[in-house]
Order: sequence, then C-alpha cells, then structure tokens
Amino acid sequence: MLGKLFATLGKEYFTLKDVGHIFHPRIQKEIQALVVKSNGLYVLPMSRFDTNFRVSEIPRPLQGYDPTSYRVNLEEKWCDYGYFQALKSPCQHAIAACSNSRRDYKNSVDPVYFLHSVCKVYEMEFPAIENLLVHPKSDILDQRLRTNQISLRFHVSNVIKVFGSLIVSCT
Ligand SMILES: [Zn+2]
Repeated sequence: MLGKLFATLGKEYFTLKDVGHIFHPRIQKEIQALVVKSNGLYVLPMSRFDTNFRVSEIPRPLQGYDPTSYRVNLEEKWCDYGYFQALKSPCQHAIAACSNSRRDYKNSVDPVYFLHSVCKVYEMEFPAIENLLVHPKSDILDQRLRTNQISLRFHVSNVIKVFGSLIVSCT
C-alpha cells in the first residue's frame, strides 16, 4: 500500500513540476491566499536597505479587524506575527514588504516547499515484495526453512536435556 501511495504521489508531483508549478500544491494555495491578504496592508520602510519594515493592517471594524502593526525583517525572515519564522514561508506582512521593496517573495520561501525538493523524496522507489508461495524454491525460503530447522533442533535438544535431568533427579 505504501509503495502504491508513493508511486501515485510521485507521478502527481513530477507531472506538476513538468508543467511548470514551482511549489507544493498545498503551499501554492496558501501563498496565493496570503498574496490576496497582503494587498490591503500599509507598508512603512524603516531602513535604507529595504530590510526592516512596519506593516499595518487597515482597521476594518465591521469585519472585526483592529488596527495592528507588525515589524518585518526580510533578511532575518522574521515577523512579529510569528508565521514567517515558524513555517519558513512568508506571511502576508512579509509578502507586502517584499512588494514594497520590489523583491520576489518566492526567495523568502524555504526550499523544502519547492516541488523540486518534494520530487527528490519520490525519486526513490519501493521494490515489489516477492510472493514466496509462487516461488517456493527461492533462496530466501530455503534459508528461512534451514534457520527454522536449526532453531527447532536446538529447542528440542534443550527440552530433552531439561526433562532428562528432571527424570534423573526424580529417580
Ligand atoms: Zn507577519
């Protein structure tokens, strides 16, 4: 079952990579949602190197959003919100900061989320397990039988010794 799952997922990810997808599908969906969220943020650059920012969410009292601001450091891949450093993938604040400084947010995504990294996992293949009932003369079966016979002889000889000593001690 694991081999079948591995083959199915491997085919899916290699196909996605071949047609030009960059990220794992789940991350791609997540990043697209964050890009949409980043559109309504106000970005204030705090350094001349475009690394430190203060990103503020626009207050929307009707939707329950309070005016909150977060510090973002693109070099350290850090945001007050915590998502960026925890998941190694930019949050909406970091994406907004990247847009403001004309950086590609994809450079802030950890390589583990890229499809080329995911496909490396699926380069390995599970070998199909041999059916020993179809090929009873296989070396593996012979070896197992020999091992079982040796261990059976060992156990029988030990039982005989134990019972023999009991019989001797009783008489
Ligand atoms: Zn953030």
